[in-house]
Amino acid sequence: MNDSTATSASSKEADILVIGAGVMGMTIAQRLLEAGRSVILVDPSEPGSGASYGNAGTIADYAIMPVGSPAVLRNLPALLFDKNSPLSIRRAALFTLAPWLIRFFFQSFPGATQGNIQALANILADAAPRWRALAEQIGARSLVRARGCFYLYDDPASFDRGKQDIAFRRSMGINGEMLSPQELSQLEPNLPEIDGGAAYFPDAIFLSDPGQVMTRLYQFIQAAGVEFHQSAALRIERQSGGVRVVLADKSVVRARQVVIAAGAHSRDLAKQAGDRIPLDTERGYHLEYDLAEPLLQRPACANTQGFYMCPMTGRLRVAGTVELGGLSPTPSQHRLDTLERGIKQYFPDLGKPSRTWLGFRPSIPDSRPVISASRSGNDVVYAFGHGHIGLTLAPVTAAMVSALIAGDTSPVSLEDFSAQRF
Ligand SMILES: Cc1cc2nc3c(=O)[nH]c(=O)nc-3n(C[C@H](O)[C@H](O)[C@H](O)COP(=O)(O)OP(=O)(O)OC[C@H]3O[C@@H](n4cnc5c(N)ncnc54)[C@H](O)[C@@H]3O)c2cc1C
Repeated sequence: MNDSTATSASSKEADILVIGAGVMGMTIAQRLLEAGRSVILVDPSEPGSGASYGNAGTIADYAIMPVGSPAVLRNLPALLFDKNSPLSIRRAALFTLAPWLIRFFFQSFPGATQGNIQALANILADAAPRWRALAEQIGARSLVRARGCFYLYDDPASFDRGKQDIAFRRSMGINGEMLSPQELSQLEPNLPEIDGGAAYFPDAIFLSDPGQVMTRLYQFIQAAGVEFHQSAALRIERQSGGVRVVLADKSVVRARQVVIAAGAHSRDLAKQAGDRIPLDTERGYHLEYDLAEPLLQRPACANTQGFYMCPMTGRLRVAGTVELGGLSPTPSQHRLDTLERGIKQYFPDLGKPSRTWLGFRPSIPDSRPVISASRSGNDVVYAFGHGHIGLTLAPVTAAMVSALIAGDTSPVSLEDFSAQRF
């Protein structure tokens, strides 16, 4: 996505400056352009090359359960300190993570969990139709697959727990059903027969190539008039009538309003705007296997191991696991090996991965994103912290941010996502 039209160091002005060109920043830019605003978008990296590139591609409107819950709390010591568990912690990062972990602990109690579930259910409610509409608009309809999605349970005990989980989700309005091993085999004949079975979300959609969708989104907003400037936002200064942002290449952007959508890198920028947000990162990984023929028709999540197997264009992507470990760019070979051992349990003949990837989920202890005006007003607006469901939530977040900027009524109540809740 090399951009020959990217602008050079200078001083610029626009109605809105969007910081961060991930799925969040680009979708917000698209929505603001549609509302008639002039938009400058800044990012030191190629648009769409962060977490938005390497995810599992699921539009997971069924994912109403927060990461923290009473069940996670019960197993927390084992989960955090067993190197092979789906949720692990980098010991080197333990000290800096402590404030986040303490909040996560309290958000895992039953009352807090219930509130987080309800907030997530509200914001996820129409994620799929919003994605379909966005894909249509940006010319990415052929990259949306409507084939449903699975959670796999490898043994009868986890299948029984799955039944309770799906019964609860059904009570929250999500269409899900349990499948026996035989029913699962009929839908996915290449999967080995397992003792437990699966939960099936038949209405779920997924993106068969998130990177390609990011490219189309960027091309669309560029053609619609967004000005992309490849540099990092460093300093945010309020002035009368707007905000002045100094970039790493020493250029300056003045805008009436600024949206901070820098994913896992947003915390220090929000602090400059006056808010201390407990944003950290859950590192996640993927392995890819180039394949002439797909092994699966739809994403399947190995539930107890915490990874998705996703059929993507020309390849199988194995994506997931949670590693609490800060923004260090060094991947853990152990996590990659664990993911590889996990996929080999389902497809032992896969050989070596064609490529690997590490990405940073922007995570808040209560699993709710921050979609909010800053403490001092809507001259600075936040749109980050979407954790495991940022791809899913991008179009609805963009609609909420657009309403915040314009002072209109938001399509989803903003209260649950306020920066001032901490
Ligand atoms: C393994 C894995 C699997 C996942 N699977 C799914 C899934 O199936 N479904 C789903 O909904 N979600 C999934 N997610 C989560 C989803 O990918 C993220 O929540 C989402 O991509 C976050 O988007 P973002 O735009 O906020 O962040 P990013 O995509 O990370 O974008 C942030 C951008 O900000 C830029 N930036 C950083 N600092 C600055 C600065 N100072 N100035 C300007 N720009 C800056 C970065 O360069 C980056 O381009 C998954 C994540 C992982 C890691």
